[in-house]
Amino acid sequence: MIHMKYTKLMTLTLLALMLAACGKEETKTPASAPAQEEVDEKIENEETNEELVTDVVEEEPMEEVTTKPLYKLNEANWAFKPIADAPSKVVLLTIDDAPDKRSLEMAKTLKELNAPAIFFVNGHFLDTDEEKAVLKEIHAMGFAIGNHTQTHANLKDLTEEQQRAEIMQVSEKVEAIIGEKPKYFRAPFGSNTDFSKALVKEQGMLLMNWTYGYDWVSEYQDAKALTGIMVNSEFLTNGANLLMHDRVWTAAALKGIVEGLRGKGYEMIDPATIQGVTAE
Ligand SMILES: [Zn+2]
Repeated sequence: MIHMKYTKLMTLTLLALMLAACGKEETKTPASAPAQEEVDEKIENEETNEELVTDVVEEEPMEEVTTKPLYKLNEANWAFKPIADAPSKVVLLTIDDAPDKRSLEMAKTLKELNAPAIFFVNGHFLDTDEEKAVLKEIHAMGFAIGNHTQTHANLKDLTEEQQRAEIMQVSEKVEAIIGEKPKYFRAPFGSNTDFSKALVKEQGMLLMNWTYGYDWVSEYQDAKALTGIMVNSEFLTNGANLLMHDRVWTAAALKGIVEGLRGKGYEMIDPATIQGVTAE
């Protein structure tokens, strides 16, 4: 019995370690922080503390791993709080604007490092057979896939009908390619509307912005500078949600970023363990 439990736990741990992903973003604000208006809106939406699922894991058959939620999104700073005794010194890696030119390379780098992440994808990068094959491969490597809209539009500039198309087209494309819909959503520029937030929720996706990121700032469009700031940012905090993009310099910096963060004692959150994403 003990041995079996141990094996299952090891398997879960390995699965967790194998999951990884990424994303890109927002060209205006550097570093941290969503707009205050968004924070205010979020606070109104306090979740109902639904799924403190306990003890499900050991009952499940091996093939159907039901992941227990270990982290809860804090919408005030988009960082993650540990549930119960989950490790607190962690960060979430995300890579936006995938899968453009560098996502596959970035996924391979993360995989070698056993670093989980979310790749937030745009529908306009999922048109050709080659692009679809890349998404399939990234997903098959164990990375989580998030929805980053069809054309990377600012949702606040669109009608409700257009917003719906931006979001739904990507979810449908992703499902057609990998067999499941995205469970995570990040709006381009962190620009959400009441309509898009409701739709994202209705579609069963967890909406997130980010805690910090720098790769769109010109002085950090260099692997060494980017590695330095990502590892030593003043916004680095337990559970921080790190925003990166499918970019040449970010791909070159990625290994150093992961190793630098681990050197400071941070591990990477498995996106599948975030509350609201785990199986109920
Ligand atoms: Zn983006």
